[in-house]
Amino acid sequence: MNKIFISLKDIYKTYGKIPDAVNALTDINLTLNKGDSAVVTGPSGSGKTTLLNLIGALDTPDSGSIIISSFKLCGMSEKERTFYRRKHVGFIFQDDALLPELTAFENIELPLVLTGCDRKKRIEKVESVLSSLGISFKKNSFPDELSGGEKQRVAAARAVVHGPAIVLADEPTSNLDRSSSDKVIDVIRSISKNLDITVLISSHDQEVISRFDKKITLNYGKIMPD
Ligand code: ADP
Ligand code: MG
Repeated sequence: MNKIFISLKDIYKTYGKIPDAVNALTDINLTLNKGDSAVVTGPSGSGKTTLLNLIGALDTPDSGSIIISSFKLCGMSEKERTFYRRKHVGFIFQDDALLPELTAFENIELPLVLTGCDRKKRIEKVESVLSSLGISFKKNSFPDELSGGEKQRVAAARAVVHGPAIVLADEPTSNLDRSSSDKVIDVIRSISKNLDITVLISSHDQEVISRFDKKITLNYGKIMPD
């Protein structure tokens, strides 16, 4: 049986002050297992970004507890939260630009260079993630020699090369056409499947939603029953 890997308990988050306060999240309780892939959905303004930001330690709740793997996010100092974010979270952004003057391998290696990982370990980690995402044969190519789908794979590889506990993607497909969107979702699904990393994305596209194991629907900051 899968162990609970992410747990949010009694989370409340308000923006602003009374009388203009907005209840962005109200009484959120949620658990995910290791390797789960889940989608957060709901209308604009329902709290999706706020939820992802709390899990990524980009923001803090007013009350409640968040545990990711063995990390209790509430009660961490700013410095500890920054460390947690760098080390244990992978973010996939909408327009994940690769550096044009670096090869696919070097683009993926970059976050490891920045965190001071030694060369032998870097090569090991980059080779492993290239292979898991099926792009080893493109490792020496430059971004302008890659197809759109391959570029997205490289960007995703860069987001996971440091071995994060969780990968977060806030509406990663909202600016894309159907076929590009499908490719991005393929890559995100393979992160959870092939690398056993817990993935949480937000989307309000029914086709995207249908491809995830678990759906969390928000409405006015509350989780709706299925
Ligand atoms: P979604 O991502 O589902 O569109 P958000 O999490 O961005 O929703 O927003 C939830 C609610 O919180 C909305 O009513 C939004 O206007 C409000 N909100 C979000 N961020 C802020 C902020 N920095 N200051 C004030 N209100 C905010
Ligand atoms: Mg949003």
